Amino acid sequence: MSARVLVVDDVPSNRRLMQATLEAKYYTVLLAEDGPQALSMTYEYQPDIILLDVMMPGMDGYEVCRRLKADPRTSHIPIVMLTALHDADDRINGLRAGADDFLSKPMDDFALMARLDALTRYNTVAAELRQRDATVADSSALTPDEREELERPANVLIIETDANEADRLAAPLREFGHRVMTWQESLTDGSEQPGRLDVAILALSGQNHDAKRLCASLRSMYRTGEVSIIVTYEPYDKLEAIEALRLGAGDVVAQPVDALELLARVKTQLRRSRYVEILRRRVDRGLELSLVDQLTGLYNRRFMLAQLRSWMHRAQSGGLPVSIAAFDIDYFKRINDDYGHPAGDSVLKEFADRLRLNVRPKDLVCRPGGEEFLIILPETDLNEALQGAERVREAIAGRSFRLEQQGVDVKITVSAGVATSGPGNETLAELLEEADRALYRAKQLGRNRIEEAQAA
Ligand code: GH3
Ligand code: MG
Ligand code: MG
Repeated sequence: MSARVLVVDDVPSNRRLMQATLEAKYYTVLLAEDGPQALSMTYEYQPDIILLDVMMPGMDGYEVCRRLKADPRTSHIPIVMLTALHDADDRINGLRAGADDFLSKPMDDFALMARLDALTRYNTVAAELRQRDATVADSSALTPDEREELERPANVLIIETDANEADRLAAPLREFGHRVMTWQESLTDGSEQPGRLDVAILALSGQNHDAKRLCASLRSMYRTGEVSIIVTYEPYDKLEAIEALRLGAGDVVAQPVDALELLARVKTQLRRSRYVEILRRRVDRGLELSLVDQLTGLYNRRFMLAQLRSWMHRAQSGGLPVSIAAFDIDYFKRINDDYGHPAGDSVLKEFADRLRLNVRPKDLVCRPGGEEFLIILPETDLNEALQGAERVREAIAGRSFRLEQQGVDVKITVSAGVATSGPGNETLAELLEEADRALYRAKQLGRNRIEEAQAA
């Protein structure tokens, strides 16, 4: 789906022009003509990005920005302020109001698209993580510590041949508390405390270095965390700037660089990467605590039910059906009886690994309990699901399991029942029951086989 951009401007011809430009690039455009309308449309339509004019009668752009940034329902939406060319006051006020970025009027198409691309790429990751995290707990509000982390000053490296220019860019960064590092400082890591580089500002035009090569190697050099790269370029080097974006630069800024604009870009880059980091950490923690089974690392029953519920819902609202395959190891009790419980555990682990290796990337492998396993096959019909389950059965029966402690190989087989959402299987309970009935049949019919439920 294309990103939804809300354009807020009081001048009709500006709105039309912007709409045409954005629609030509396949953005979905929403229009608002004043502050109050911008607020209500944001609540109603949750746009992905907001382009906000500063000068509007009544409620101005700063006020709109302040309100949206103060509301946890909308504070994550990036806001780009449309300001008069290099008006320093506008920009300082915009920064204070919480704006994520600036664009100067009249608008340069390339600058606009570069900005929107950068913001859209970030949005995709953040939205994905927010969605995953939402299955654990509501995550829209950051804790005070996380908020603090988001705003913490950064270590910045400026790579610029012209020393005067480097000083000019460094001044406002220092003024706002950032630490401008030298190359040497940025390369020492670990031993020296603030060694980690957060942002590199890399000049592209008229330099003694090959900026594109540096861009690519900066991307791979830093082990921990992501270093954000901002490339500055002369307008005649626009094509090179596009290439830099492709090589991993997070943003590009045209020369002559407005030092305040650069400050805003640094802030935006930092917030993006830190926001993503915070969300990722939350998801990891959530997975450890409550989504994953400790013994096998597979999804637990709780997560399985939450996922299944949402895939069923999707199937029922016009999506493709979801299938499940319920597995139960044959005569598993004998392993415990013959070799002990720890040996049984090691079989379960190996079993889980083989399941993981024999499903498609979109399938979800779960361990609802004991020696029972369940694979969720999203957007999959019964026949495909039966084939998938058969592949797993072969992967188990085809090679014996090694018990290292006992020095023996044991043969393991598994049975499974497969069911698909649809008529008769409208609810989660019905679907699970049908898979269970099919599994029971597989056991009855001799085990080491896959069955579908028979029509009653
Ligand atoms: P069937 O073919 O009918 O499924 O036979 P079975 O022996 O596998 O069936 P049953 O359900 O009677 O036994 C399952 C056994 O799995 C009983 C239980 O002790 C064992 N088990 C369940 N969870 C674990 C576990 O986490 N670790 C170990 N080692 N054993 C487990
Ligand atoms: Mg059992
Ligand atoms: Mg069993």
